Amino acid sequence: MKRKYIVITGGVLSGLGKGIAIASIGSLLASKYKVVPIKCDGYLNVDPGTMNPIEHGEVFVLDDGGEVDMDFGHYERYLGVSCKSDWNLTMGKVFKEVREKERRGDYLGQTVQMIPHVSDFIKNYFVRIGEENKADIMLIEIGGTIGDMENELYIDAVRSLRRDVGKDNILFVHLTYVPIPSGVDEQKSKPTQQSLGLLRQKGIEPNIIIARCSELLSPNIKRKIAATSNLIEEEIITGIDVDDVYKIPLVFEEQGLSQLLARKLNLAVHPNLEKWKEFIRNRENADKEITIAIAGKYTSLEDSYASIVEALKHCMAHFSTKINIKWINTEENHFDLEKVSGVIVPGGFGSRGIEGKIKIIQHCRENKIPFLGICLGLQLAVIEFARNVCGLEGANTTEIVKDCSNPVITILEEQKNIINKGGTMRLGAYPAIIKEDSLVHSLYGFKEISERHRHRYEVNPEYHEILQEKGMIFSGMSPDGKLVEFIELPKNEHLYFAATQAHPELKSSLLKPAPLFKGLVEAALKRKGL
Ligand code: GLN
Repeated sequence: MKRKYIVITGGVLSGLGKGIAIASIGSLLASKYKVVPIKCDGYLNVDPGTMNPIEHGEVFVLDDGGEVDMDFGHYERYLGVSCKSDWNLTMGKVFKEVREKERRGDYLGQTVQMIPHVSDFIKNYFVRIGEENKADIMLIEIGGTIGDMENELYIDAVRSLRRDVGKDNILFVHLTYVPIPSGVDEQKSKPTQQSLGLLRQKGIEPNIIIARCSELLSPNIKRKIAATSNLIEEEIITGIDVDDVYKIPLVFEEQGLSQLLARKLNLAVHPNLEKWKEFIRNRENADKEITIAIAGKYTSLEDSYASIVEALKHCMAHFSTKINIKWINTEENHFDLEKVSGVIVPGGFGSRGIEGKIKIIQHCRENKIPFLGICLGLQLAVIEFARNVCGLEGANTTEIVKDCSNPVITILEEQKNIINKGGTMRLGAYPAIIKEDSLVHSLYGFKEISERHRHRYEVNPEYHEILQEKGMIFSGMSPDGKLVEFIELPKNEHLYFAATQAHPELKSSLLKPAPLFKGLVEAALKRKGL
């Protein structure tokens, strides 16, 4: 079969959910075809690893250690694939590579220009990723909104790709917005028409329009949009606002999108959405309710903890339970955990709110509130235990207090020597050997597991002995036995007290929630007597 390309561009305004839209399109195809997603970002950072999560949302980490845009979270969760870091293209990467090519003399004396050289570089990049990964279908998401200068070269690249691969092998989907202004109470097509105009100026005519709207598009508005876009009405799909983004594949399917794709790209598509539907029903028919607190620094923006929120949603479906999230700003002195049935202390960097998080962990440990520590959460659980159970005064992490009296969390010598794109960071999938009979083992069900990492600091080996002597269980270690990957407190004393140096939320999915999150929610339900 000839490789097919589905390109999504966005119009009118940002934040309409291009990532979820293209991932949902892919989910309709993934049961039959090998689908490879590519995300194109316009910024000049080489990857989002160095970007502030408040501004940019969560940094998603892949098995291969790539730090990529959070849309990869959607791709992996909807497509069930493990993505690769070079599937995230940024203008930073593009320019870096084009300049390196130029310095190597690859352009043989030519004047290197944005068009065609940079645009061709991007186009060839898409083709190469498709070939290397033996993709049947490539999904190409172009970041930003049509008209953004920083994404123009991507647009030019896909325009020219259409000439190369032929119109039967590439499909352009444009995601736009149909507002219903208050007082007018009528669906308005003008913003969509204008954004289609912009797209046309760049030489692209979309084949499918998905219009975000708070209600189903009226026949009249579809007619209007169709008339200005040379499409027929069935090629215009409503991306209706939903309370649960996992419904989007179903919303698309109800409007016949998979058959539309099949016809346009000459594919045989039979989406298999039964299990997916069942989980969505489970969540909708939730007959239990609990509150889980997340104690974090970036509480002002849910996006910075997106995968944790998703992992909890997966648990909602799995346990047919409504989970309310209570965000706790640990920079404030006061926190109220009274109505909370479980607590997560997530990953983070720097010193803000650290002592507050340690207090919360102490409160969980002493009051047997189910607790899950993730990355920094594990490190702080160790610090709390070292201070308050082992009596190690001034126990801390050298990330915050360099010369503390008891550096129970520190950067190891071997880690200092790894100088790669993430600095000295331990990035990507690492295996862990799980202790049999442990809580963690009962949740994973395997002796050897693999989770993704993104951190520099580790539990200091000099303190392994005293921590274990005083009752902390190291339930998962790196295969060489040196690095602590999972800790827990005895299950006969605590309902649930577990933490990991990894980020298990990154691999959680609707059909397979992350084991440690399942453990937390199960314990929280128990605590509430449900
Ligand atoms: N700041 C800590 C470290 O670098 C934890 C990182 C994290 O939570 N992702 O080790």
